[in-house]
Parts: sequence; structure tokens; C-alpha cells
Amino acid sequence: MTQPNPHEAAKETINQVADILKLDDWVRESLLNTHREIKVSFPVEMDDGTVKVFTGYRVQHNHMMGPFKGGIRYHWDVNLDEVRALATWMTIKTSVLDLPLGGGKGGVICNPKEMSKKELDKMTRGFARRIAPVIGPLVDIPAPDVYTTAEIMGWIADEYSRCSGKKSPGVITGKSIKDGGSEGRVEATGRGGLFVLQKYLKEIGDNLKGKTIAIQGFGNAGSIFARLAFESGAKIIAVSDSSGAIINEQGLDILAVIKHKEKTRKVGDFPGARNSSNESILEMKCDVLVPAALENVIVRENASKIKAKLILELANGPVSSAGQKALEKKGTVVIPDVLANAGGVQYLIMNGIKT
Ligand code: NAD
Repeated sequence: MTQPNPHEAAKETINQVADILKLDDWVRESLLNTHREIKVSFPVEMDDGTVKVFTGYRVQHNHMMGPFKGGIRYHWDVNLDEVRALATWMTIKTSVLDLPLGGGKGGVICNPKEMSKKELDKMTRGFARRIAPVIGPLVDIPAPDVYTTAEIMGWIADEYSRCSGKKSPGVITGKSIKDGGSEGRVEATGRGGLFVLQKYLKEIGDNLKGKTIAIQGFGNAGSIFARLAFESGAKIIAVSDSSGAIINEQGLDILAVIKHKEKTRKVGDFPGARNSSNESILEMKCDVLVPAALENVIVRENASKIKAKLILELANGPVSSAGQKALEKKGTVVIPDVLANAGGVQYLIMNGIKT
């Protein structure tokens, strides 16, 4: 399958909206560009004594509404265009919610699954030192994203505090409670997704009871959404992570799946479900499909095979522009990422941007 350039997709969205809203050219142009982009590299001594040089990015898309805001991703496929797209979507997301925040995003090219905790700690601090001059509690406030955790946020806060010479937990959100984080932040993105889905169903005179749901991605966003939807009466018939999918049309016991994943580090081989491929989950017969992993998983080539009539975008950019057009043609409703996964950033404001 061809992988569309996510930044081109984000720019296409800006252009479409600019046409509809008849925005001034300079506003359109500003939104098509980023305020600032930095690429950093830094050496890290690995556990075996070798020194590896890592590359990372911080893209600050727009701060017309307030400090740049957006997560940091650790993934082997991180690249500048992906980070630009994610930063652009953050600006749209904070604006959709009318928050006093702008949009930014960061990423480091690495495979955190193959790194020890000590290596991750050193790499994180190396990245934090490089971006320290351009972030800050009133300037740019990062957060977790794919394969970054509350503990990693704590390391960034700590390293930034060293660089700035004063304790600055407010430089980053999504930290653990002991590092100054907020109660409920871990659940906020999944919970926000559930609220948006319930609201949509109510609008069309329906509800969640007994709805069959398939979820791709079982990390922070996906697994918490799965648990909350399960507890609210939905029937989760399939979930997946990077190692594959599990399916049970009668409904999965999500609390047991979460325990199984904690124990084995994967959803696969869950007793009472059959294993399947990650791609197959997208094409399952279900009421609601929830992509909650990475971008561009529904594209022109597979859009015709999607059977769900409703898609809740918990991941950022999981449906490409061409995929979206193909889905629209067959009447599939897509609840967009900039609303569906905005619970995390919305939650900050409800807490007075505490941390
Ligand atoms: P995470 O690291 O906690 O979880 C990612 C999940 O995706 C894991 O279960 C992983 O196994 C799975 N995954 C990775 N590659 C996959 C693949 N090729 N196929 C299927 N599954 C795969 O990350 P997260 O924080 O849950 O982020 C997931 C998505 O949600 C991202 O698009 C992120 O930008 C978006 N998002 C997250 C938050 C948040 O607060 N965490 C907020 C808004 C948006």
C-alpha cells in the first residue's frame, strides 16, 4: 500500500477549510507553514559501551492561541514530515476546543522496545537538553505520544529543570502523580473518545449498548477507550497491538485482556479469542471501528473493504485524505481525530493547565 505523506494530507485539510471559510491568504499561508522546526542530534552511550547518535525533531506549528502544545513520539519511522503533520493537527485540535494553546509535536528516531531503561533515560535526557532552549511552561509544553510514558515525561521535566536552573514541572504534561502529574490524565484521551462517541450516538437517537467495536492499537488511547466502552455496555469484538490481533465475535473480556497484556506484553494468544492479523481488524464487520495506533492505516487501497459504518479516529491521522474521500462516497461517518482524541489536551484546561 502506498503511504501518503501525512504533512501533505494536513496541508490539504488546511486548504479545504481555508476555501470554505474564505480565509485571508496570509492566514492560509501561516497555517500551511510551521513557526519553527528544529532537528537535533545527540550522542548516547549504550549499555554495551558503544556510542550511538540519535536524531530528533521538535516542530512548533502555531502559537497564535497560546503556548505550543503536543506530544513526543519515540518510533523508528519518525520523520520530519510526520512531526510537521502531527504539529499541524495539534493546532487544529486546540482550536476546535477553543483552548488557549497552539500546536507542536516532537519525535525521536529510535526503537524503544530494544532499549534498556537506562538507555531510554539517557536518550530522553539528551533530547531534552537539545530542545530545552525552545520549550518551557509558557512557551512549548510537550506531552506523551506513541511509545513515550509518564516516566519519560518525568525525566524530561527533571532534565529541563536542570537546564533552566529551577524546578519546572509545568514544562511537560502526562507525568506520573509523584512527579507532579494530574489524577485522571492517563485516562483522559480514551475517556474523551468515549464521550464523543456517546454524544454522536445520542445525536442520531442511538446509544452504545451492545454496539460491536473493533480497536486497532492497545496502548494508552486504545486500551483505556476499550475498558471504558466495555464498562459502558459496548461489545469489544477485536483488539490489536503491534504483534497482531485477537478476535471474539461474542465479545472480549477487556479487563482480562488488559491483565493478559500486562503479563505477556502482547494481546496475542489471549485464551478465549482467536489470533488474527493486524490489518484484518480494520476490515471486520462491526458497528464502530476505532483506529488507535498510527496514521495512514485506512487509505485509498483498503477503504472499500472497511465494513464499519462509523469510524472513531483515536489515533492521529489514521485515515488518509484519499481514504476519507472513498469512505465519504460509501456513506461511512468518520469522527475526526482533532475532536475524538482531544480529551487529553482538553483535560489540562479543566485542571487549569496544572501539569
Ligand atoms: P501507545 O504507545 O500507548 O500505544 C500505541 C499502541 O499502538 C500500542 O498498543 C502498539 O502496540 C500499537 N501499535 C503500534 N504499531 C502498530 C501497528 N503497526 N499496528 C497496530 N498497532 C500498533 O500510544 P498512544 O498514546 O496510545 O497513541 C496512539 C495514537 O493515539 C497515536 O496516534 C497518538 O498520536 C494518538 N493520541 C494519543 C494521545 C495520548 O494522550 N496518549 C492523545 C491524542 C492522540
